[in-house]
Amino acid sequence: MIQFHNVSLAYQKDATALDTISFRAAKGEFLFLTGPSGAGKTTLLKLIYGALRPSRGQVIVNGQNISRLTPAEVPFLRRTIGVVFQDFKLLPHRTVFENVAITLEVAGCSGSDIGKRVMHILRQVGMEGKQGLTPLRLSGGEQQRVALARALVNEPRILLADEPTGNLDEANKMQILSIFKEANVKGTTVIVATHDRRLIEQTHQRVIVLRNGCLVEAGEAGHAE
Ligand code: ADP
Ligand code: ADP
Repeated sequence: MIQFHNVSLAYQKDATALDTISFRAAKGEFLFLTGPSGAGKTTLLKLIYGALRPSRGQVIVNGQNISRLTPAEVPFLRRTIGVVFQDFKLLPHRTVFENVAITLEVAGCSGSDIGKRVMHILRQVGMEGKQGLTPLRLSGGEQQRVALARALVNEPRILLADEPTGNLDEANKMQILSIFKEANVKGTTVIVATHDRRLIEQTHQRVIVLRNGCLVEAGEAGHAE
């Protein structure tokens, strides 16, 4: 499902953010990506959703080599991947409903189908009744859940989350984690970048550790693809 073969990425010359990374994540796997700030976690996620291309090596996602995608093919790749960004990237002047519906509109779903699916996922993340509010009227934890709903509403094959529990209390963290697990049980491959040690310890999932752009621990490989 996701394969990195000797992947390096330099934003500038002599500024290597990832250095010769190799690992694979099987379909339906759930893994944590951890390591100190600046280790390269966000960069690695960006390579998976095609926001960056490797300077060297190959990134293969859904059987496609990211380096060979044409600009027209990138949106098709993105439709199979839900991303929860560190800063959420919610549209401030759109309602919660509209922020989540965007994913389905882009995918060309019909209006009534969109309404049903958006309300279903908002119930799942505990945001029912808030669909008419704009993000500015929500707490950080609520915005986090809307971002998660937007990433999951299209039942993506891959879910990527960048520090998804950053500003959440323990109860909210556990709720977000259970939503990840639920998506994973339904077959979504989940990769969560975090330096929240407690979150990792509580779940017993495979862990990949980055330090200074190098892979220092690749965890135990999951089941075969
Ligand atoms: P993490 O997510 O683990 O904190 P990042 O992937 O954000 O790490 O960053 C890895 C390294 O790449 C850091 O040294 C960071 O400063 C650098 N970096 C990240 N984004 C850029 C960019 N757009 N331009 C130049 N350097 C960058
Ligand atoms: P259905 O086909 O199931 O009737 P709808 O498209 O009518 O689906 O919407 C389902 C729910 O989504 C309703 O509760 C409706 O109030 C809510 N809804 C639809 N559009 C919006 C919107 N733009 N902003 C907020 N809530 C919306």
